[in-house]
Amino acid sequence: MASREKFGMRQNNRMGIKTIVVIGISLIFLRATPRAMAQEIDVLIKNGHVIDPRNSINARMDVAIANGKISQVAADIPESQAKKVIDAKGLFISPGFIDIHTHVFVGSKTGFADGINSLSPDDFTGRSGVTTVVDAGTSGWRNFPVFKEQVIDKSKTRILAFLNIAGSGLSGKPSQENLDDMNPDSASHMLKKYPETIVGIKIGHYEGKEWTPFDNAVEAAERSNAPLLVECHLPQYSLEDQLNRMRPGDIITHSFEKISERMSVIDEKGVVRPFVKEAQKKGILFDVGHGGAGFWFSEAIPALKQGLVPNSFGTDLHRFSVNSGMKDMLNVMSKYLAMGMKKEDVILRATWAPAKSIRREDLGHLSKGAVADVAVWSMRKGNFGFVDAGGNKIEGDWKLEAELTLRDGKVVWDLNGLSAKKFVE
Ligand SMILES: [Zn+2]
Repeated sequence: MASREKFGMRQNNRMGIKTIVVIGISLIFLRATPRAMAQEIDVLIKNGHVIDPRNSINARMDVAIANGKISQVAADIPESQAKKVIDAKGLFISPGFIDIHTHVFVGSKTGFADGINSLSPDDFTGRSGVTTVVDAGTSGWRNFPVFKEQVIDKSKTRILAFLNIAGSGLSGKPSQENLDDMNPDSASHMLKKYPETIVGIKIGHYEGKEWTPFDNAVEAAERSNAPLLVECHLPQYSLEDQLNRMRPGDIITHSFEKISERMSVIDEKGVVRPFVKEAQKKGILFDVGHGGAGFWFSEAIPALKQGLVPNSFGTDLHRFSVNSGMKDMLNVMSKYLAMGMKKEDVILRATWAPAKSIRREDLGHLSKGAVADVAVWSMRKGNFGFVDAGGNKIEGDWKLEAELTLRDGKVVWDLNGLSAKKFVE
């Protein structure tokens, strides 16, 4: 445009045929403008129903993506402006889902039970509409650089991490229990070194009675101005003592776990315990953390009815949970639909709410300029069964299914070939 204006101005100083020719050329340029704009949108997803809780959008809208970013969300964006058009009629569009509790340090030879439990994230994320996972302390300050090099940098999934206060993360005994290795200095130093990737500190799976690991984890989180993720199953730390030590914005996972020795969120009469309500009021965030043993309907249903609503649907993705009642994040979300949560609320807790909890407000929404991590999904109607960690089942009429997942504007999952070319014989 600038050079064309200069060219026009130069010619304006003269009269006659040359001026007419220049005006003619300018008109050709102007008429060419819409065709130039046709190059501006890389992918246009049309006719879907957008649910973007961060931006209070819950309506039929088109979503335009350019250069890996959201360029526009609006009704009726013209197809002529797009290189590729995807028809999402009858489908929902939302920000890509964020799973804040996973174990994806694959190849690490670390485990928290009896072996190698991490999974390769790309094998499980796109097909569940998940574009960001947060590893829950599978690595610590000693081996995080290896995790980054081997997995984080080589995956399509955006991988963030809570750093375990134990130096080598979930490395099993004896190193996982070594108090001298739970160093708040080293942990907060590592967090400062990788602020783009490490979102907080994690404490969990410690078997001793001392509070040193917990206190050191709080100190590391405090120094790093970051949240603490608490994943303690064992009875040596009561739930009340854990919640009392946590700060507003810290996250407790396996919130609806029912392991007899660990005090649960619900009392014998099915009422949310007063200290849990207090913790919620104080600003502690409750993550589902389903896993293989971390989710029971007998806890989660009364909690939901009484307003103890999970802030996020961390799956605790690992080798055992994917083949149990957990399965994947969409299954956990569908479970909450079956328990009576509205779909808009489910999407909030799968997108913007977890983004805020890990203090990554650049994620979890479809604002103009945001990274184009997008989930296109359907609600299938039928008879579905949902199982908890105790083998108890509830039934539901709806199941969420990931149709198309885009990460950084690129298709990473396409169940029915929405983005594919039609085969012509
Ligand atoms: Zn876990």
